[in-house]
Amino acid sequence: MNTMDTPLRDGFPLLAASPDLHYLDSAATSQIHRSALDAVARHETTCRANVSRGTYRLAEAADRAYEQARQTVARFLNAGAAGEVIFTSGATASLNLVAHAFGNTLKAGDRVLISVAEHHSNFVPWQMLRDRTGIELALIPVTDAGQLDLARLPELITGNCRLVAVTQCSNVTGAWTDVATLVEAARKVGAKVLLDGAQAVQHGPQDVRALGIDFYAFSGHKCFGPGGVGVLWGREELLAKLSPFHTGGGMIGEVTPQATTWAPPPQRFEAGTPPIAQAVGLAAALEWMMTLDWQQIHARESRLCELLVDGLLRIPALRLLGPESSAARAPIVSFDIPGLHPHDICQVLDARNLALRGGHHCAQPLMAALGIDVCTRASIALYNDETDILALLDGLSFALRELA
Ligand code: PLP
Repeated sequence: MNTMDTPLRDGFPLLAASPDLHYLDSAATSQIHRSALDAVARHETTCRANVSRGTYRLAEAADRAYEQARQTVARFLNAGAAGEVIFTSGATASLNLVAHAFGNTLKAGDRVLISVAEHHSNFVPWQMLRDRTGIELALIPVTDAGQLDLARLPELITGNCRLVAVTQCSNVTGAWTDVATLVEAARKVGAKVLLDGAQAVQHGPQDVRALGIDFYAFSGHKCFGPGGVGVLWGREELLAKLSPFHTGGGMIGEVTPQATTWAPPPQRFEAGTPPIAQAVGLAAALEWMMTLDWQQIHARESRLCELLVDGLLRIPALRLLGPESSAARAPIVSFDIPGLHPHDICQVLDARNLALRGGHHCAQPLMAALGIDVCTRASIALYNDETDILALLDGLSFALRELA
């Protein structure tokens, strides 16, 4: 078992090569772990061939590697079967897939419930579905602390609600969603639940069955794996009832000049050549994650988060967004300093080797609900330590003097 005494930073080639870099933007993209890089290189140099097509040994090796990657993802998610795992190009593609494939089962007047806190990739596809089909799109509001206001559920989960699609963890406030309460309310009216796990996966393996949900989406580049690959998990019996989103090679049963039948899931939802080496790399990153002591990592991430929040709260006029308690949030901390634009703050910080994100974070409805246009975000991952947080607090004091 890997413990936090092990210098985790050393497992990340970019960080190991940049000892002065304080990388605090893992909510946008985490750094890639060496095991993922090595797995991609190994695959590309020993097994590169297309999958589900060739009968020669190299193609069979590629098939095996790709299907093993699917099994690893299934273990990471505690899925019922590997066939419930669909490889996509990322969380955005996974969410669009559900909005189309599940969306096709909905009719005008059915309700989809999302929240004000969604990333645009779990917002815009539902707006488009509403405009195409006449479904009702309802929004769970957020509290002043940026948490989903689940007290409003009784009036929002109506009898015509077919799907609740929300983020597991906000990419702006870090607020965790109370999934159990949502699932219980959804089940009462027979609605399905889609969880956007994009921000959750880098904080440890998930258990989709214990969560009691129906769909789960995430991206490889946010959990120490390569870019260009993501996952949609869906319950087997549910996927079997859905028609495809994208069509093309690899997803058919039979094509005749008149009509086409579909392959069973997951192939039904993987039209065209999938991101093969990337899936293999993602699996390596997840295998590595599954060797870690997550209790220890969470304790450490929380400590760093508290250190940051305490320091930020000492800055006059700074408004901390999201819950103050580190138990209620992932280590994602956003703040607003009236009169200072986040881009200016981030530029001053960059000159001190601090990488942070400033902007609307693809969450403009949430920004509007919080009464701001933009904010600055620091996100902490397992390779960060106290020096990163102290450098940030020091850098912010400097930025305040520089930009005042
Ligand atoms: N959902 C959330 C909560 C996110 O934070 C992001 C990206 O930041 C996404 C979805 C989209 O992820 P990707 O751009 O990897 O598809």
